[in-house]
Amino acid sequence: MDRSIRSVRLLSAATPRGAAGRTEKETDVLLADLMSLRQTVGAGVLVTLTERCPLSCAHCSASATLTGRDLDAGDLLRFLRTFTPDCRPEVLMLTGGEPLTRPALVVEAAQAARAAGTRTAVLSGGFFARGGALPPAIRRVAEAVDHFSLSVDAFHEREVPRADVLRAVAELLRTGVATSLHVLSEGADDPYPDEVAAEVADRFGSRVPMLVAEVRAIGRGAALPGRSAAPPPPLPSAATPCEMAAWPVITGDGAIAACCNQDVVDGRIRPEHLRLGSVATDTWRAVRDRAYGDPLLRMIRTVGPVHVAARAGGTPGDYCGTCHRLPEMPEAAAWAGRAGSGPCGELLQAAAVGALRADGARGLVARHGSRRHAGLVGGTTDGGREVAT
Ligand code: SF4
Ligand code: SF4
Repeated sequence: MDRSIRSVRLLSAATPRGAAGRTEKETDVLLADLMSLRQTVGAGVLVTLTERCPLSCAHCSASATLTGRDLDAGDLLRFLRTFTPDCRPEVLMLTGGEPLTRPALVVEAAQAARAAGTRTAVLSGGFFARGGALPPAIRRVAEAVDHFSLSVDAFHEREVPRADVLRAVAELLRTGVATSLHVLSEGADDPYPDEVAAEVADRFGSRVPMLVAEVRAIGRGAALPGRSAAPPPPLPSAATPCEMAAWPVITGDGAIAACCNQDVVDGRIRPEHLRLGSVATDTWRAVRDRAYGDPLLRMIRTVGPVHVAARAGGTPGDYCGTCHRLPEMPEAAAWAGRAGSGPCGELLQAAAVGALRADGARGLVARHGSRRHAGLVGGTTDGGREVAT
């Protein structure tokens, strides 16, 4: 799965639901609202519930297999119970690997988060959709969470046919849960997302928004033919804020990282400035305070790692690679300490985040996903012949 952009509507207070399922639609989280929170520091937390997956998509950025690690369930639930009504993320985003290989834990995690007022979204590859009705355990997940997103793209279709995914979407909508699709294209001119959008609009009207991103050269995706490893680095003189360091990420080994860079999440590289704590021992308040207040993280969010390195007299390279090497540039932390500490640093970070948020969810998708399909984040056209009730 691609952790870069994930979404959901955030309401201020938790509203309990009956065991029979969701009857109060206002509790759900919509894709555009989730995306609009993606740049706000500490507004969400991403959880790698497992590195396992029963599918074997050729483009999998997480390189998930049947034998990946599981996050410790007890540690996760302990951490989620440190959320309080006045100190909590708005969104708990459960991903993987395939989080629905652990459906009972998804339900428990959503309940623990809801106790403090946090909404839960789950992103699944939809293995359970192959050829049949929603299994009871998946139905219980749909009733427990506030947003359910399914992946569909040309690579997934070799594992789970699109017809099965869309049948699962129809069943999920009937449970009342807000449902979206996470679609990948193979480039700006790829007609695939247009075909899916037309089919979704025809069947579901505007009820199923779509997040369209592009297949990336990460994980197994790096081995696909014709992929370039990384975009060219920005000019060192330019401020290019990192938008992927706003939500802490709980990794499969229980560490809490400052960003969703796959090398950091997988633990291949985990420099000190990108470590926020441990799910086994820390509280949300401590993690949030570190994420929000660390001067170097603030400046990475404000001007980006390449500019930080240049200001520190280092030799910048590619974007995230330069960030990984910042600890080797002692002057970087010193410069960030001067620029990013205290109320001034707080103001700089707020201004940078505010500027990025100004064009909303569509702007975020246009910058990091498929610009041509950014409007789909708010839903497809109205109408639809299969609008579930
Ligand atoms: S469903 Fe997602 S996690 Fe599983 S193999 Fe496919 S891309 Fe990877
Ligand atoms: S620039 Fe740094 S903080 Fe941002 S995604 Fe890359 S490694 Fe993470």
